Amino acid sequence: MGLCNPELTQLIKYRIGGDFLKDLDRLAKLKPMIDDDMVRQFNAIKRTKKEQLCKVIAEHEGVQLNPDFIFDVQVKRLHEYKRQLLNALSIVDIYFRLKDGELPEFQPTAFIFGAKSAPGYARAKAIIRYINRIARMINNDPAVAGKLKVVFVQNYNCSYAEHIIPAADISEQISPAGTEASGTGNMKLMLNGAVTLGTLDGANVEIAKEAGMENEYIFGHTVSEINAVRGTYRSRDIYDRDAHLRRAVNTLVDGTVPTDDAQKELFHALLDGASWHRPDHYFLLLDYSSYMDAKLKVNRDYADRLNFGRKCLMNIASGAKFSSDRTIRQYAEEIWHITPTQY
Ligand SMILES: *Cc1c(COP(=O)(O)O)cnc(C)c1O
Repeated sequence: MGLCNPELTQLIKYRIGGDFLKDLDRLAKLKPMIDDDMVRQFNAIKRTKKEQLCKVIAEHEGVQLNPDFIFDVQVKRLHEYKRQLLNALSIVDIYFRLKDGELPEFQPTAFIFGAKSAPGYARAKAIIRYINRIARMINNDPAVAGKLKVVFVQNYNCSYAEHIIPAADISEQISPAGTEASGTGNMKLMLNGAVTLGTLDGANVEIAKEAGMENEYIFGHTVSEINAVRGTYRSRDIYDRDAHLRRAVNTLVDGTVPTDDAQKELFHALLDGASWHRPDHYFLLLDYSSYMDAKLKVNRDYADRLNFGRKCLMNIASGAKFSSDRTIRQYAEEIWHITPTQY
């Protein structure tokens, strides 16, 4: 935060003193100070960071984003378990519904992806190509020009993260419960004032506990609920029942979006199973409807800018636990049994 978000660092320094970067526990002192005045200052800073990111993305990607849009961000390695494809399918669904006039209240949103695939991970590369193709379709459709933009940035790395993370309104942390050890991107986004749209997986659990469930958008099946359905789960039943979801999934094969055999393989992996995995191994379809409900709820809630900004500030003020200093101190005491004089 000190490096990539000097504007936010200044705001916090002014309230609780400059040494908070070396003693993150002090962040909690912000909580009783959060008032409309601070929220307005925070919202102005978020706006500045979004303007700065718009410049970077225009330069690097040739895509012009509007800083008035909600910035909904999913940045992390590309992996099936991180479910970038779930995010992409929900965007395609929103796109179709907007065109049908079904979402008249939808707040304009820019969906920003950043990710790399491992070199030999063909299915991850198929997901990257699919997202770039839906981005081209959506960004070139005048029917949704004022409502929806999608960008998959090239060469996502730490330097790019420094631009994207301070500009995020929504942090997508959507792996199925039980798959993510912790995650660290979720913490970076929290500390820079984004709300989490996420499952009860990895450190999202602690993030929601620290900041309060009412300041996050938690959805999806829990670990025990997933374990209970694992043996009998049939993704095709959900596909058959949910017409919106079906229309989005079908774009992997029906030519609405330019696709090839790699996306056809994604389609079969979801519905029939492939590569020794059961159908929909990562439960995209199982969590789809609660994901869409949460996604539309955060979109509605954004309209109340003061209340939304308050949620973002509550996330910042609750970030102390995710300090690496705190983590190492706890390891020293509880695991290594060494005292401060030894380090
Ligand atoms: C933090 C970070 C990650 C890890 O993100 P997760 O969401 O925890 O998987 C990956 N890549 C970069 C560049 C990061 O900064």
